[in-house]
Amino acid sequence: MAYDATNSLEAHWMPFSDNRGFKEDPRLVVRAEGVHLYDHRGGQLLDGSSGLFCSPAGHCHPKIAEAVAKQMTEYTYVMPFQAGHPGSFKLAEKISRMLPEQMNHVFFTNSGSESVDTAMKIVMAYWNARGETRPRFVSRERAYHGVNIGGVSLSGMVKNRDIFHATVPGVMMLRHTYDPSETFIPGGHSEHNGVELANDLERMAQTYGGNNIAAVFVEPVAGSTGALPPPKGYLQQLRKICDQYGILLVFDEVITGFGRMGTAFAAQKYDVEPDIITMAKALTNGSIPMGAVACRDDIYETVVGSSKRGLTEFFHGYTYSGHPAACAAGNAMMEIIEEEDLIQRSADLIPYFEDALMDGLKGHEMIKDIRVAGLMAGVEVHAEGGPGMRGTELQKRMFWDGLSVKFTGDNAIIAPQFIATRDHVDEIVGRFRKTLDHMLANG
Ligand code: PLP
Repeated sequence: MAYDATNSLEAHWMPFSDNRGFKEDPRLVVRAEGVHLYDHRGGQLLDGSSGLFCSPAGHCHPKIAEAVAKQMTEYTYVMPFQAGHPGSFKLAEKISRMLPEQMNHVFFTNSGSESVDTAMKIVMAYWNARGETRPRFVSRERAYHGVNIGGVSLSGMVKNRDIFHATVPGVMMLRHTYDPSETFIPGGHSEHNGVELANDLERMAQTYGGNNIAAVFVEPVAGSTGALPPPKGYLQQLRKICDQYGILLVFDEVITGFGRMGTAFAAQKYDVEPDIITMAKALTNGSIPMGAVACRDDIYETVVGSSKRGLTEFFHGYTYSGHPAACAAGNAMMEIIEEEDLIQRSADLIPYFEDALMDGLKGHEMIKDIRVAGLMAGVEVHAEGGPGMRGTELQKRMFWDGLSVKFTGDNAIIAPQFIATRDHVDEIVGRFRKTLDHMLANG
């Protein structure tokens, strides 16, 4: 579909965007296929961030297109409360087979943000069912847990919360785990003080009483704040302290879920079993909005078992929970993951990706740090013109230089699709560097 320049762009209030700047220099994608996007001026771009880390199987995958199109001719909507359709049961079953063993129940939402808020409500319902009052949640500085009011309350990214005052009370923050003195660590496997940083939780438990803390929410790899891998021992120590005080551990795997770490979930990569996992994004290859929350079986049993009049009901849900189109896309995606061996492909590409980034970008005058965790890297540029200004400018320039990359502040998050080849990785790194070089030479 061609872009009609006579159409006004004014009416659409864009999310997380410089609305005026964008409308003066619009960057519209009008077609996509595999690893490529096509802009409204006819240019081809390489997708360096898998959309927003959500399209690992490549854009416009025919299997998903067919499944959704077929679904749209069979039934387009089914009431999800006290009714259902086969697609959601099938999908939940498939997801549960990828999850840690004790997690066999999946609740559907429509986004990562809804998954986080749903997880908070599962936690609250669980403690309520157990007859315990645990009013505090723990999160981490620099965390991103979506934009709904629960997730914003857990957010440690100041810009996402400082203009919103009505957040959930009782949230305490662990220190963030990024140590700027440990820059350029290939693989991001910092050896440094993981246990000591996780012991923040121990201090909170000692200060406020461990039995007042309902849950700890953590991204196994902090994504949106710049791809910060966990220091060694960090997640394990959080698990240990949670066990000690009966605190629930929630992994927000909205980015890391479905293979980005080279394993189905980061829980498996880091060998730590959380009690609850949130997911979204790659679940449908980004094609239809969908999220999900999985929890340990005993949490599910406790919550549904406690509902009034023995109805095993959880008083929560969305009109579009388990929507047929999303389930069709999700089921197709789960089959693609298996048939195309996508998780193994991600695992196989990770070492090459790491080397390519370090070889191609380390030492560049404009780059401050590179962190790699799985098939995701934070490439941080030196700030200039105020925090995030350079990142915003670079994102624009890279688009017109043929590379789509997500910047968050002054961090580029490079996250290739799992179908990307080594040549594609080289091309991503090459184009990234070319824009930096050009900016350095010409301002
Ligand atoms: N949680 C994490 C860890 C995320 O990275 C994101 C989005 O990037 C979200 C939650 C929110 O997901 P959504 O944008 O689908 O609401």
